[in-house]
Amino acid sequence: MPPHDEENRLDALYSLNLLDTAPSESFDRITRMAAQLFNLPIAAVSLTDRDRQWFKSRVGIDHWSIPRFKAPCAQVAESARTLIVPDLLADSSYRNSLLADQGIRFYAGASLTTRDGYGLGSLCVLGTEPRQASSLEMNALSDLAKMVMSQIELQHAFGRIDPLSGLPNRTQFLDDLADLGRDDPGQRRLAVLVDLARPEQLDNGLRVMGATFMDQVVKDAARAISAAIGRERTAYHVSATQFAFLAPHDARDDDYMMKLRSYLTDNHHRLVENFITSASVGVAPFVTDETAPGDVLRTAHSAAQDARSCSAMVSMYSSTMDNAHQRRFRLLSDFSKALKNDEELALVYQPRIDLKTGKCVGAEALLRWKNPDLGPVSPAEFIPVIEQTTLAAPATKWVLKTALSQLSQWLSSDIALRISINLSASNLEEPDFAQEVCRLVAEHGIPPDYVELEVTESAIMGNLTGAAGQLRELIEAGMHVAIDDFGTGYSSLAYLQKLPGKILKIDQSFIGEMEADGRCATLVQSMISMAHDLGYRVVAEGVESPGARDSLIKMGCDEAQGYYYARPMAPNAFNRWLSQYSPQSEQQNASAA
Ligand code: C2E
Ligand code: MG
Ligand code: MG
Repeated sequence: MPPHDEENRLDALYSLNLLDTAPSESFDRITRMAAQLFNLPIAAVSLTDRDRQWFKSRVGIDHWSIPRFKAPCAQVAESARTLIVPDLLADSSYRNSLLADQGIRFYAGASLTTRDGYGLGSLCVLGTEPRQASSLEMNALSDLAKMVMSQIELQHAFGRIDPLSGLPNRTQFLDDLADLGRDDPGQRRLAVLVDLARPEQLDNGLRVMGATFMDQVVKDAARAISAAIGRERTAYHVSATQFAFLAPHDARDDDYMMKLRSYLTDNHHRLVENFITSASVGVAPFVTDETAPGDVLRTAHSAAQDARSCSAMVSMYSSTMDNAHQRRFRLLSDFSKALKNDEELALVYQPRIDLKTGKCVGAEALLRWKNPDLGPVSPAEFIPVIEQTTLAAPATKWVLKTALSQLSQWLSSDIALRISINLSASNLEEPDFAQEVCRLVAEHGIPPDYVELEVTESAIMGNLTGAAGQLRELIEAGMHVAIDDFGTGYSSLAYLQKLPGKILKIDQSFIGEMEADGRCATLVQSMISMAHDLGYRVVAEGVESPGARDSLIKMGCDEAQGYYYARPMAPNAFNRWLSQYSPQSEQQNASAA
């Protein structure tokens, strides 16, 4: 056998992951039948490894392997043909073999041949007397060898077929991509990933319709996808609700995207009927032997996520979008480390000024993160990323603890400030969040009146009943609740009525525009009047100039915060700023205007 064929033969053998696995009754049964068929004491399923014969199954043999050298089974594997040696001692090849030394005289073996024609080894029978083998016996032995192969294929398929859809799974997809790289290198192809539903839709479906129904949805989708791509291509079931396949050889990017889109549009009614209301499809180009199979799946998945996030149904993989995904992923994994090491995270504090007295009455705690590799990462970037994950809970807890212990230091040095802490929407979904905040506040010996919690309108609106309940609990405990970034979310008066809390922070985008844009100033004025009518105290965010401050004073705004007064500062800098800050001169400045 040429050396490269031997390498391919070994590859075929190794890819089945059979060597050195435990014995199994399904093989032993066949081995026993072979021994009975020949009425001989010894039989084995013998696999030809690089330099040994390893027995998957054996009768009448004590050891698990013998050297390959001069083993008749190796000849069966190399030739992929049956072999009969009526008398080993009379055979020049085997006269001096280990088997002959051990007293074996007769050998008959049928090849264990793969579909691709590689001989893996032999189903063999051995005897201690010379013997002939009839063609009837040899035909039966060959049949048994085929049964061994079916058993091998069956075991191999097990764990590669999804039991629900009957389609090959992710492992098989990755293996097939690797094979494609070997058999047809250098080809640019398109991989397609179909994602049936968002995880929460799945959960809802499961809750409302039950598991059997959802299984049926997945089965129907599997059938629809297989039918759509036709018999000559394979659909793979790569995760519970995701399917993958390759576009035809000659598919061109744009044409193919169009085809997919029109398929989805044309079949919309059918998909909706099957409750596949929000399938998103990602298409990723790859080069057969260059792109690692894992990357093909990952990029197609990333494209499907893009499709989902821009409600586009079908999306082509984009490396820019992917870089953004990867950066988000990196931020997430780094942030969870940052929470543990206490060196990368810090709070800065930005003063809040009472516009009537000019006094600094409070400070907003703002999170800062210095990543050891990426440098400072803005909260505007990392907060929205972690807010969507379970990290939001430990992050807010870290902020609460740090801010509360800073506040307790200030209070004990007679600096009376109300501290304002930003919450994430998902914090309000933690069932015991309010209790936990109360516990922390008490633990730090802080009067609740000194604590304010900021939430955005959208955070409350997503889960109005739950969120309002938690916020009410905090208010009842004596804390304050502020609606942050007001004007950027729903900003509906009807909703505002339902929100607990009596402080409203007008978003900085309005304040910044106010001086240049008269309509914006009118808007701010009406927001302030309306909020006052509803009993809110109003804070203006992003006050950058004396002009903005003066207008806000005229409009009756209660408090202001912004670069005009001070940027957010680390505790020491804050203390220095505070000791130099003079409410009187601030007042005089303001009234001189
Ligand atoms: P925010 O709560 O509305 O905070 C105000 C943001 O405006 C801060 O940005 C602050 O530095 C910035 N700012 C203050 N005065 C001015 C000004 O005069 N002009 C301009 N242009 N900007 C001003 P920062 O610190 O980058 O935070 C951005 C956002 O990240 C915050 O908006 C808040 O939504 C979020 N965030 C920050 N820290 C935390 C935190 O500890 N927890 C949570 N959940 N979110 C946080
Ligand atoms: Mg805020
Ligand atoms: Mg804000």
